[in-house]
Amino acid sequence: MRRKLAAGNWKMNGTRAALAEVDTLGAPKGPSEVLICPPATLIAAAAGRVDGIAVGGQDCHAAEKGAHTGDVSASMLADAGATHVILGHSERRADHGETDAAVRAKTEAAWAAGLVAIVCVGETLAQREAGETLDVIGAQLDGSVPDGATAATTVIAYEPVWAIGTGKVPTNDQIAEVHDAMRERLKNRFGAESDGMRLLYGGSVKGSNAAEIFAVSNVDGALVGGASLKAADFGPIVEALDAAS
Ligand code: PEP
Repeated sequence: MRRKLAAGNWKMNGTRAALAEVDTLGAPKGPSEVLICPPATLIAAAAGRVDGIAVGGQDCHAAEKGAHTGDVSASMLADAGATHVILGHSERRADHGETDAAVRAKTEAAWAAGLVAIVCVGETLAQREAGETLDVIGAQLDGSVPDGATAATTVIAYEPVWAIGTGKVPTNDQIAEVHDAMRERLKNRFGAESDGMRLLYGGSVKGSNAAEIFAVSNVDGALVGGASLKAADFGPIVEALDAAS
């Protein structure tokens, strides 16, 4: 019912030469949706480059235009060929002080520009050790996802902050606990529409652990950082997701 999604977040990595990795990845052969989110400078060159590989941004401003030096609006991303945008990534929340309210406003801007918003949530290690994980995730979901979210416009990515770029991965039970709780919370708020909303896991996903993670309840794909930079690493993750479809 939910089409699986493999999304690559290149973060602040890559110049034009890196687009060769998209070429090497090649047109998807399986049922999964494949998305690459390169730096904003590469979106126009990446979009439409390979049939079936969608391109997204990593952030957008909440306003459509104006005096916001250095920022990029959702409609600019769309104009460059993006179809998706990652919002509220923990690195944006930490480095730029993005609050749930800011993420919510950006998500509304993304929708207005016709982009699919991939809204990120995740607890810190201190929050997990304090037993606060489900409360933190619930509050982030409530605060970051606007009213009116639909399966077509909104994807949620659960990314434990302590698992990003660290090689540490939660146990399957820990992932299932959060994903099941997110599904329930979205159901309470959005009703039947929530059944179609995809829930991605993110944090140190690799070819070697992907199949195990994709077998977990309510995991509809992955948001992948480091292992999305090279086709040789991202390709096996996409294959594992295809196999789980
Ligand atoms: C991310 O930053 O979205 C991410 C999941 O990074 P990594 O896969 O490198 O842990």
